[in-house]
Amino acid sequence: ESVFGKIVRAPEDPILGVTVAYNKDTSPVKLNLGVGAYRTEEGKPLVLNVVRKAEQLLVNDQSRVKEYLPIVGLVDFNKLSAKLILGADSPAIKDNRVTTVQCLSGTGSLRVGAEFLARHYHQLTIYIPQPTWGNHPKVFTLAGLSVKTYRYYDPATRGLNFQGLLEDLRAAPSGAIVLLHACAHNPTGVDPTLEQWEQIRQLMRSKGLLPFFDSAYQGFASGSLDADAQSVRMFVADGGECLVAQSYAKNMGLYGERVGALSIVCKTEDVASRVESQLKLVIRPMYSSPPIHGASIVATILKDSTMYKEWTLELKAMADRIISMRQQLFDALSARGTPGDWSHIIKQIGMFTFTGLNSEQVAFMTKEYHIYMTSDGRISMAGLSSKTVPHLTDAIHAAVT
Ligand code: PMP
Repeated sequence: ESVFGKIVRAPEDPILGVTVAYNKDTSPVKLNLGVGAYRTEEGKPLVLNVVRKAEQLLVNDQSRVKEYLPIVGLVDFNKLSAKLILGADSPAIKDNRVTTVQCLSGTGSLRVGAEFLARHYHQLTIYIPQPTWGNHPKVFTLAGLSVKTYRYYDPATRGLNFQGLLEDLRAAPSGAIVLLHACAHNPTGVDPTLEQWEQIRQLMRSKGLLPFFDSAYQGFASGSLDADAQSVRMFVADGGECLVAQSYAKNMGLYGERVGALSIVCKTEDVASRVESQLKLVIRPMYSSPPIHGASIVATILKDSTMYKEWTLELKAMADRIISMRQQLFDALSARGTPGDWSHIIKQIGMFTFTGLNSEQVAFMTKEYHIYMTSDGRISMAGLSSKTVPHLTDAIHAAVT
């Protein structure tokens, strides 16, 4: 009799479980629109040329050793990451009031930030958008924060519920933490406009709400690294404080390398250095120090102007392919005469379209068409290609008629 004999089986992760089900399907027409990873027009994973180049440089450099990184990670990587999200001429960076620590991709950065807040911040409630990435509530709850939601998505318009958002933030207790998707909101693909961001900023600053940005898609949404960082930069330009979790999974295609960074923008250099000293105490007992390879790739690319330029072009090509998939799917549904307004497909931004299909329609499409997606009707545009658009169109048409 096992000492673990009474353990009950846990359910599959709702997002990663989609791929598990997809892998079991033997149909030749099966299509995985579940997981958020970029695919080429041929449906293959993509390693960027510039990443291959950087890796080659690293391999050829005989002086490189495998010593531990410091607790906070690779110093160059941290500086360059802060510069990437906050902007090269950010006053906060010039004033040395940003502390950045290398973490395990976006998820690890969120978790370290949350653990820090749970220990040292006075208001332990975090507001997350409704809906949001499924891992958010778990990460924050397990870190010891109390999770509440603010209205975000309006199913009627398949757009932003801006009034609801403002009302909920206005009603939040002063000092509460607010999780904001920097761009390309997951799962809805719905972002505030710059004018709306400005109103959110004013409201949050007037109430002393603490912004915690999740930036998992910088450059991946619009194709421009600067445009996709504007929301964050607005909140830094006003001199106030915030946290930013960055991921290089999507924008450099480094998914499995687990490269990310947590930056905390503080009021003064002195505060930032004390915050950093406490971040080290959070990290050391969790995993001691982060891995070296992925961060070295990123630093190699970001510090070399030729490689940086090459990266921005490859990044733009990925973003453009996704935007073109939106157009192709929208055109195909229009040509087919599929009932309903599908304009949200081209209005939404980033990796995902929140189709508006309900869980029964999703189940129908999986059963009859071997198309896999999360039950909330979210599809990964990156998993789609010109060749598979007709099959998806047929499936959606059949599901709604
Ligand atoms: N935040 C959001 C909104 C995401 O969509 C993701 C990736 N699915 C992440 C964070 C974190 O991803 P990773 O840990 O792979 O960087």
